[in-house]
Amino acid sequence: MNDTRKVIIIGGVAAGASCAARLRRLDERAQITVYERGPYVSFANCGLPYYIGDVIQEEEDLLVASPELFLKQFNIDARVLHEVTRIDAERREVIVRDLAQGRIHRDWYDALVLAPGAAPVRPDWPGLDLPGVFTLRTIPDSRAIRRWIDENKPRRAIVIGGSYIGLEMAENLTRRGIAVTVVEALPQVMAALDPEMAEPVVRHLEMNRIDLQLGDAVTSLEQGASGAGRVARTQGGMRLEAEMVVVALGVRPEAALARDAGLEIGELGGFRVNEQMRTSDAHIWAVGDAVEVRNIVTGRWCLMPLAGPANRQGRLAADAICGREVRFAGVQGTSVCGVFGLTVAATGASEKVLRRDGASDYAAVYLHPYHHATYYPGAKRLHLKLIFSRKDGRILGAQAVGEVGVEKRIDVIAMAIQKGGTVFDLEQSELCYAPQYGAAKDPINMAGMLAANVLRSDMPLADWRLLEETQAMIIDVRDPDEFAAGHIDGAVNVPLTELRNRLEELPREREIWVHCAVGQRAYYAARVLLQRGFRVRNLSGGYLTYWGFNP
Ligand code: FAD
Repeated sequence: MNDTRKVIIIGGVAAGASCAARLRRLDERAQITVYERGPYVSFANCGLPYYIGDVIQEEEDLLVASPELFLKQFNIDARVLHEVTRIDAERREVIVRDLAQGRIHRDWYDALVLAPGAAPVRPDWPGLDLPGVFTLRTIPDSRAIRRWIDENKPRRAIVIGGSYIGLEMAENLTRRGIAVTVVEALPQVMAALDPEMAEPVVRHLEMNRIDLQLGDAVTSLEQGASGAGRVARTQGGMRLEAEMVVVALGVRPEAALARDAGLEIGELGGFRVNEQMRTSDAHIWAVGDAVEVRNIVTGRWCLMPLAGPANRQGRLAADAICGREVRFAGVQGTSVCGVFGLTVAATGASEKVLRRDGASDYAAVYLHPYHHATYYPGAKRLHLKLIFSRKDGRILGAQAVGEVGVEKRIDVIAMAIQKGGTVFDLEQSELCYAPQYGAAKDPINMAGMLAANVLRSDMPLADWRLLEETQAMIIDVRDPDEFAAGHIDGAVNVPLTELRNRLEELPREREIWVHCAVGQRAYYAARVLLQRGFRVRNLSGGYLTYWGFNP
């Protein structure tokens, strides 16, 4: 490289801007140019749904930085409305089109960083280009949606896709007084969750008057009979009408430029990079939504279009360009989303993913603790699932849903996963406690203890999914009034308080599966029965979890 390093960055939002700023902090003399196709650099894409919902009222609040700030504060030449149309890797040049002036020029680099992000998936349905049909990625996209709402005053909207962005849009359109139907091809919302953990989210959405159409896929859009009407037709034969449609079907890496330049592209369509974020070309790095990364739990390549990894990768690529010894640790999918006051968070692998990968040597426990001590006013229940290796207790993943304290628990578990932690570590972890914040035995400790009980054979588990086919006797150890209010078909009620006096009613030749409301009393019951020589398993998470499996 020359004395003065010349770096070009393609894409100036999360990963690109982070890379540019870090480069400047490390190399005062480098010549840094950022080419950004859109009209803004460094804006908050994650805030866009809330701008549409009027939670964020001023568009300028979405702007984290501007080309002027880049120049003044960092001496970085950030050019908006400049699209890189070709990379000439052999000559180390890029061809750039100035979208405002229509001019084209060449620029050369010592190091090139690709941070072009990912574009919303646009299926080839008829009608996708109709006015009133939107995808959401940029500030102009959100502006267009706001304008449509202001000018057309839609009463109904169809959101296609029931994951993070789709549900954030459902919430924010509701805020604007619009009745929303969400159509999702999967039989569940929030694909990152296992289906039974998505069930509380479904109930919460329905409580908030979202019309959910699960397990059906939109196949076409068309103009309705009334002027502003849009009609969505589905595989299942539904005909839905609304005055606007938002398509939120996920994203695809913007990899065309790199493909044309002969860079290696992975099976999932993202750039292949090494641990220093370097592509198959020694002078080109790639970061953000457009790259494939290793999942540290499954060991597989994956796409992880999240802001955290994008920012960290941008920073790391800058370090690597400046010759620092760095290594991207991989991703684990730690994510959080808020919908109508409910927080949904996950980290690591879901059971779905583990099964898909053919893994079987794992177990999962469910618990439904309160987010802080119950004697302190305002305690809210959260639903937590912890997945771990049966072999050594290594934590593989966790999912949580609830009103408060959800993301804190998932963040702790995320850190444990990153450090190769086990359920025994969770059992032992020392966490903040005062009654308004947690519990002396925090839900994290409880999850670790439960899982450790399983691994130490103190609490053998039964699988809720095998309930229908098991020959085991199902014992419900809740109180009679709880049992009377609703119970599993065929379950026998032996309240925990009566259990020791009714042992002669229980079979010794047959397995017994116990459960209660949330798992605690069933655990006590299992311990009684195990020590008295019965063959017992616990239906983890109790009747509340049963509802997740039997909506
Ligand atoms: P981007 O931020 O998309 O930036 C890429 C930029 O490159 C684009 O501005 C594009 O115009 C530009 N570009 C592409 N090709 C060229 C070219 N040839 N020449 C010049 N410029 C080019 N993540 C979370 O973790 N949490 C959230 O809550 C969250 N919410 C989100 C909500 C929405 C509505 C959206 C759209 C995304 C959300 N994300 C969230 C995802 C997060 O925003 C992305 O993971 C992150 O922005 C990726 O950063 P990036 O730099 O790789 O790509």
